[in-house]
Amino acid sequence: MQPHIQTYPLLTLASGDVLKLQMYRFQGQQPGLTVYCQANLHGAEFAGNGVVQKLIEFFQACEPHHLVGEVRLVPVCNPLGVSQRSHHFASGRYNPYDGRDWNRIFWDYSEGAAADIAAFAQVHRDLDLATLTQHFRTHLLAAFQRELERLDNGPGAPVHERYRCRLQALALDADILLDLHSSSDRGLVYVYYFQNREDRAAAFGLDFALLSDRHDGNACDEAFIKPWLALERELAALGRPVRFGVDAWTVELANGMALQAPAIQRGLSGVLNYLRHRGVLRDQPPVQWGTMTYARTSRLVKYHAPSGGFIQNRVALGTSVQAGDRLYDLLCFNKSGHLPEVHSIRADRDGLVYDLSTSEGVNEGEYVLALTDPVEPPAPTYREG
Ligand SMILES: [Zn+2]
Repeated sequence: MQPHIQTYPLLTLASGDVLKLQMYRFQGQQPGLTVYCQANLHGAEFAGNGVVQKLIEFFQACEPHHLVGEVRLVPVCNPLGVSQRSHHFASGRYNPYDGRDWNRIFWDYSEGAAADIAAFAQVHRDLDLATLTQHFRTHLLAAFQRELERLDNGPGAPVHERYRCRLQALALDADILLDLHSSSDRGLVYVYYFQNREDRAAAFGLDFALLSDRHDGNACDEAFIKPWLALERELAALGRPVRFGVDAWTVELANGMALQAPAIQRGLSGVLNYLRHRGVLRDQPPVQWGTMTYARTSRLVKYHAPSGGFIQNRVALGTSVQAGDRLYDLLCFNKSGHLPEVHSIRADRDGLVYDLSTSEGVNEGEYVLALTDPVEPPAPTYREG
């Protein structure tokens, strides 16, 4: 199969140059789910581009009858962020215009539309799932169209609103959103998931799956799925506990500023197996990976340096620690005429070390490492069909 390649204007610069997005679209022989996958929303998180390249190669070699539906791939989806540098270091997490996190800016229909979604559920509660999905998508896209019209009318809209709308315009009519990230520093390979999607998260087969149970605010995955989750809750309250085919995933692919082959391979295998699990890809049956580890965003803990200094003897990424275990030593110099001191920093709880700061020199209050606390996922609250 060959992709249909299309470029989309994003922003015009003062120089007259135009920043663009480019999408690679593979269309299967039979209709089915639409999958949208983007990489490098945060400027320093390059690894997803490696997965996109592998996906392009994979689908080029794929038989058209093995793809059911459509796959859209958008590498380097944030041209402003990916180009940002400080010395040799890519920063690119924050919009330089206003300090906003590039992944906390997205348009979320469910914000301020609770009454609207409740009314929709009331009117459409008895429709079959496919028709309900179709009607709600039409409803959602009509609201988004009004948002798009706002960009070029009246007083105009700021950069982050223009950017998000032009990116979301490529994604919002899809069934599945995959947003490929990595740590800003050094991290494991894992996936964020939403309520009632444990079984689908397990199909990725990564180090762990992290339930988004704390509102981070307008992240790309949240903005995509929250209207659907809100509708699922309203329908459940009306005695119809269903689960839509709509999914949103943020996949974390190890270290920032790196394209590590093992992380890219695991990301690729995870995405392909998930697509097999969802029936989008029918080249072979999905693998059952075995036991999955689940965690929750509400139980993530970040450790920050209690004083300025230098990190030594830090635990390795992926270590399971217990309360009281040493996490790292902090070498502290002083300007008070005393000898340097070394302080051991210990865990105040049990957990899995899933992320480490790149820098081993830290000011007081700076990020050092993060733990997550593996817990059982909440029980499903839907019935299939
Ligand atoms: Zn990110």
